[in-house]
Amino acid sequence: MSTKEFLDAVATEVIVCTKCPLWKTRKNAVPGEGNSESPVIFIGEAPGQSEDIKGKPFVGAAGKFLETLLSEIGLSRNDVFICNIVKCRPPRNREPMPNEIQTCAPYLDRQIKIIKPKFIVTLGNYSTTYVFSKANLSFNGITQAHGKFYHATILNMQIAIFPTFHPAAALYSAKYKETLQRDFQLLKNKLVGHAIDS
Ligand code: URA
Ligand code: SF4
Repeated sequence: MSTKEFLDAVATEVIVCTKCPLWKTRKNAVPGEGNSESPVIFIGEAPGQSEDIKGKPFVGAAGKFLETLLSEIGLSRNDVFICNIVKCRPPRNREPMPNEIQTCAPYLDRQIKIIKPKFIVTLGNYSTTYVFSKANLSFNGITQAHGKFYHATILNMQIAIFPTFHPAAALYSAKYKETLQRDFQLLKNKLVGHAIDS
């Protein structure tokens, strides 16, 4: 099977998953999507309302800004793989609970193992906490951690983790917006030399 077919197999399971209580209130699960050969994966928190309606990641206001950030470094959403730790929307957009993260994260782990990215960009506290713990890195909050590359072993692969703020943070703060734009430029500099063929 090709990388894409393996990813499709994960998505097929996610769409009908009932492993944690979030399935009861979702309209659509959101497995994630994009270029199965991408050297970089972007990981958010959990679907919001727009994502729940469409079954696609980052298609609401935060997603629009993520697309802007990507376009500023010469990428489109189809060039890269975009997903979340938790695949179903928590009711009223509450934060995902530890048991939901723990139950859902094996799907993300499988996606990472299939894609074998060179870089993982964690968007916000939740995905950074999860990926750092997988990599045995200590995490003291996104404000301290963001904008640096952490070379780590995750799931038996050498991957550079690059934490940054969640794009939703930029929707209410010009400061976070500029920080995200600066962080993405750092990412661009590192991506040079890693061909992105979509
Ligand atoms: N916020 C997230 O963390 N993920 C999405 O897919 C949309 C908004
Ligand atoms: Fe399954 Fe994850 Fe959805 Fe929970 S959030 S039902 S574990 S896909």
